[in-house]
Amino acid sequence: AASVKYLTGDGAGIKDFIDKFDTFLFDCDGVLWSGDHVFEGVPETLLLLRSKGKRIVFVTNNSTKSRQDYVKKLAGMGIEAGPDDVFGSSYSAAVYISRILKLPAGKRKVYVIGEAGVEHELASEGVPFVGGTDPSYRRDITPEDFAGLADGSLLDPEVGAVLCGLDFHVNYLKLAHGLQYLRRGARFLATNIDSTLPMHHDIFLGAGSCSVPLANAVGEQPLALGKPSQAMMDAVEGKFQLDRARTCMVGDRLNTDIKFGIEGKLGGTLHVLTGVHSKADWEAEDAVAVPAFYADKLSDLRECA
Ligand code: PLP
Ligand code: CA
Repeated sequence: AASVKYLTGDGAGIKDFIDKFDTFLFDCDGVLWSGDHVFEGVPETLLLLRSKGKRIVFVTNNSTKSRQDYVKKLAGMGIEAGPDDVFGSSYSAAVYISRILKLPAGKRKVYVIGEAGVEHELASEGVPFVGGTDPSYRRDITPEDFAGLADGSLLDPEVGAVLCGLDFHVNYLKLAHGLQYLRRGARFLATNIDSTLPMHHDIFLGAGSCSVPLANAVGEQPLALGKPSQAMMDAVEGKFQLDRARTCMVGDRLNTDIKFGIEGKLGGTLHVLTGVHSKADWEAEDAVAVPAFYADKLSDLRECA
C-alpha cells in the first residue's frame, strides 16, 4: 500500500500522471457526483482533460439508466457527452447477450428483472425481452400463479436468459418467474451485483438485492456484466479501440472500479476519496484491490501546469 502514489494537486505529479494516458474511464457516482449533486470543479476538470486531447468514457454500473439517460444527466451537470461516450452495465449486458452469448433460435428472449434502462439497452441491441417494467408483474402472487409457474403455462417458452438489474419494484412474483426460467435452463446474468446503493449519505439495497434471492434458490451465481467483469472491459476495448497501457480507470470503489482496471491490465488506476471506499480500505491487509494512484478529489487534477 506504501507504493500508492498520492496526487496532491500541487503540480508536477499531476502533469506526469496525465501524460501517461490517452483515455480515462470514469466511474460516475462517487467520482463526478453524489446522487444529483455534481462535485465542485468536475466539469472544468473534464474540459481540461479534453483540451489536452484525452478521450473520456463514462463507465457506470447504474443499470437503471440507459446511455441516453446518462447523456441527459451529464448535460444537466454541465458535462457535455454523447451516447457513445457512455458505457453502462445495462448496455454491457445487452452487448454481451447480442454479440457474445448468441442465444439459440427459439430461445432468444430475455426475462428482465430491472428498470427501463435495461429494456432500452436490450432494445438498442435488438434483443427481445419480457418482464421488466411490465405492470402486470407488479402485484401479489396468487395460488393460480404458483400452479401456472410450476406447469410452465405462465412461462414464455422462448426465454433463454434471465437478466437481473436493480428493480425498484422487485417482488415474489417477479423472482418466482426468474426461478422457473432458470430451472428450465435459462442462462443466469446480472447487469451488476453491487451490494449497496449509496444515497443521501446513507446506503440502500444495490442491484445485488435483486439477483441474490435467485442465486440463493438455484445455488449458482449470475454472470455479472458490469464492473469488474472483464466482459465489460472487452466490450469497451472493442468499441473504443483502447490501448490498455495508455488507459486509466478512475473510481471510488475498490471491488468494482479499481479491480476492473487492474484485472483489465490498464496502465493505471486512480482511486478518488469522494465516494464509497476510503484510504483505509486499500491500506487493509485483506484489501480486494490496491490502486496505483489516489487523490482526495477529481478536481485536484486541475492543478497541473
Ligand atoms: N446502480 C444504481 C442503481 C445507481 O443508482 C448507482 C449510482 O447512481 C450505481 C449503481 C453506481 O454507479 P457508478 O458505477 O456510476 O458508481
Ligand atoms: Ca461509483
